[in-house]
Amino acid sequence: MLVVMSAHATEENVRAVCEKIQSLGYRPHPIPGAERTAIGITGNQGAVEAGTLEQMTGVQEVIRVSKPYKLVSRDVKQENTIVRFPDCDGSFGGHTLGIVAGPCSVESRQQAFTIAERVARAGARFFRGGAFKPRTSPYAFQGMGEEGLKIMAEIRDRFGLRIVTEALDYESLDLVAEYADVVQIGARNMQNYSLLKRAGRLRKPVLLKRGLSATLEEFLMAAEYILSEGNYEVILCERGVRTFADHTRNTLDLSIVPAVQKLSHLPIVVDPSHGTGKRDKVLSMSRAAVATGADGLLIEVHHDPDRALSDGAQSITCDQFDELMQEVRQIAAVVHRTVQETMTQAVAAKIAI
Ligand code: PEP
Ligand code: MN
Repeated sequence: MLVVMSAHATEENVRAVCEKIQSLGYRPHPIPGAERTAIGITGNQGAVEAGTLEQMTGVQEVIRVSKPYKLVSRDVKQENTIVRFPDCDGSFGGHTLGIVAGPCSVESRQQAFTIAERVARAGARFFRGGAFKPRTSPYAFQGMGEEGLKIMAEIRDRFGLRIVTEALDYESLDLVAEYADVVQIGARNMQNYSLLKRAGRLRKPVLLKRGLSATLEEFLMAAEYILSEGNYEVILCERGVRTFADHTRNTLDLSIVPAVQKLSHLPIVVDPSHGTGKRDKVLSMSRAAVATGADGLLIEVHHDPDRALSDGAQSITCDQFDELMQEVRQIAAVVHRTVQETMTQAVAAKIAI
């Protein structure tokens, strides 16, 4: 159910409706919009008795949301959600694309700093790097753990980049959230519901990757888990799904971008690195992702990809990333979006010292 407040409703009216919903034993989710506030109701098994709510001051109407996902849906919020960061001109869902770049894994301080400086100079505002890695083989490099997180915290201080890094399990989520600006939930965990709920209790944006075989509805329902716990800052990420095609590691499903944007207010970014698994396909699929209206890109970049400890085959070089940024900047202009040119003057001045 959804309570739509009138454009003239006061904060006091909204508070009274939320209290009423609580007193009925449900959870209110007030979601302010440009013109009016909507209040999502969760925790109800069947329909909520609309009568009492409809009579309250400031209430315009009470609507049944027929879709299984409620809080992620455009019924609740018509405008796009923009995920912003304090003291940072990078965001997801706004006019400027959110560009996340960096290695698959943080391997050393020197490796991470080398790549961070290059992606920052190229205009990225978000640095990615795994400290806890979900590897197919238990014998493969598993990440540097907290030491890797500390290196990324230093990168944030030095280059002004906001940090996106994966939380692999329930136990390490709080540790990752201490260091990260955006907590990534990986494809393999998209249906790890206890982890999603716990991420929903964070007060930090979550980047949720699409599961390897998830439908659009399953993807949105996974996001709903996070919102249902009160965390409304979710960035969706298409990273390819399993199909019979074997010319790429996964099949990048770009058509999910407009499909998500039709149904949901949440931003969606595209990861052509995991989506193709092949370095030589990342540039063209990045261009295509921006052309299709994605709210950003997540790109694996390595200064020496042939020696990377994970996902080297799909990691592009720093020079290739420069080229990618120049090209996507031009495509972005065609779809009335922008991409930052380089690091801010303040950061450039700081690192010149
Ligand atoms: C990653 O981003 O490095 C990663 C492991 O992604 P995914 O969960 O999409 O495989
Ligand atoms: Mn990777």
